[in-house]
Amino acid sequence: MAEKMTEFEQVVNKAREAFLSGKTRNVEFRKKQLKALQRMYDENEGAFCTALAKDLRKPKQESILLELNLLKDDLRFMLARLDDWVKPEKIGTNLVTMFDQPIIYHDPYGVVLVMGAWNYPLQLPLLPVSGAIAAGNTVIIKPSEISPATAQILADLVPKYLDNECYYVVCGGVPETTELLKQRFDYIFYTGSPEVGKIVREAANKHLTPTTLELGGKSPLYIDDTVDFDLAVRRIIWGKCINAGQTCIAPDYLLCTREVQDKFVEKAREILKEWYGDNPKDSPDLCRIISDKHLDRIAEYLKDGKVVVGGEVDREQRFISPTILVDVSPRSKVMTEEIFGPILPIVSVSNAFDAIRFINERDHPLCTYLFTTNCKVRQAFVRDVLTGSMCVNDCVVQLGLHELPFGGVGTSGMGAYHGRASYDTFTHRKSCLIRNYNKLAEQIGKLRYPPYSEKNTRMLSKMLRETNLPSLKCLSYILAFGLGVASVFIAKEIAKSGGRDWFSRRLGAIFGFFHSSRT
Ligand code: NAD
Repeated sequence: MAEKMTEFEQVVNKAREAFLSGKTRNVEFRKKQLKALQRMYDENEGAFCTALAKDLRKPKQESILLELNLLKDDLRFMLARLDDWVKPEKIGTNLVTMFDQPIIYHDPYGVVLVMGAWNYPLQLPLLPVSGAIAAGNTVIIKPSEISPATAQILADLVPKYLDNECYYVVCGGVPETTELLKQRFDYIFYTGSPEVGKIVREAANKHLTPTTLELGGKSPLYIDDTVDFDLAVRRIIWGKCINAGQTCIAPDYLLCTREVQDKFVEKAREILKEWYGDNPKDSPDLCRIISDKHLDRIAEYLKDGKVVVGGEVDREQRFISPTILVDVSPRSKVMTEEIFGPILPIVSVSNAFDAIRFINERDHPLCTYLFTTNCKVRQAFVRDVLTGSMCVNDCVVQLGLHELPFGGVGTSGMGAYHGRASYDTFTHRKSCLIRNYNKLAEQIGKLRYPPYSEKNTRMLSKMLRETNLPSLKCLSYILAFGLGVASVFIAKEIAKSGGRDWFSRRLGAIFGFFHSSRT
């Protein structure tokens, strides 16, 4: 008896059928879906904010600025450019292929699986989805089970807005995801921890499925004494405190000299009091830790150094106050594991070069932050630190620029997305050479056929070399320029010699030339 198809197998089959039907090849169809996503965000802002508040007690400002607006702006950016992006790319030729058309076509992969993480439970599973749709794929979205309210609202709303044959939301925990990953996808986009990233990669390898892994790790921050301290510390503390530190690109730890450390701690204490009051637990602007398990894990880090600011833990409320730790050993847990909570350990270094060395001795960060106005220090960081991305003199805001690809390197991830990079991620660039039967080209081309000879090898090698022949596109510019110059010249001539006369004289000259050349 044939085995019964699992629920996931059925969903993947349906998504594949929809892809094979060719529906998503139509760019107007893709744009319609992207606009439907826009409507989904606009019409359900309140419901999304409520779900995010349930999962993380996320303040409305953070929900709007760091989840919904990011999604909406990315869609606007994409919709304004999609018609250009989908155009086949024409490229240059060499002497042998000068009469042919080498073109790069953009193909969707097919059925894409997008798996999101719980910390930005709306933005993380949906931002890649717009790229996957724009590129013409069908998509299965798997939100994180750790943020159940947002997962549920996605499961409820996505089918109401997006095409039901092409786009699906599947929910579940580890057993369900394990089952889901047994299916054959054409692309997997995963956001989450490096540990689960390895599981996803292993599952993808069974079918040689290409993957993008958006992972985590420790994002370091170096600050020197050349900065505007008030501004710099505000930016750093904001980057650490949004989402209660549960941000993959939050500054994880701080490197600075002893003197800078003292100044930093004093300023941070002052700013935290200004923002969250004497009792930060009462502030409506601080998120909660996602689960008891994560709260216990983060609370353990408090033992790894001397608490100089904060340090309060309330398990019932899943609250940890913004905390600064000093006298931390680089070998302690807080310095070897990703913190993913509102604790900022400070490690002393003697200068910027010491800090670069410290960073380079560890896994490549998802993001590296640098606070300095010293050009030499900035140049050294930019040149010497291999990191997913870098932001100088601010934290997290680099995310808002759609033209900056977002992704990690090494253990912090592979591949990138946001804006054009999202479209590129879900697009296979198919190279295609369209030849013709031009006899002149064949005079050159036939040198490849036997009988082989040294002379033919030499000639062909020369002709196959990159010659930078002007492409047709370039030719059209030259022609347009030529026509422009000619029309100015003609206009001047006409003006000089009185319209009609000038034409009849010129035409007479042309006919005269043809007549004399025939006889
Ligand atoms: P998570 O627990 O929500 O897991 C992410 C996804 O993996 C979920 O869909 C979940 O169902 C699935 N999953 C979990 N365990 C699994 C297993 N054993 N087998 C198969 N699937 C499984 O999120 P997380 O991993 O706790 O996320 C936090 C991590 O994600 C941090 O390391 C953080 O830095 C990283 N992160 C990275 C980015 C980025 O863009 N690079 C963004 C957010 C979070």
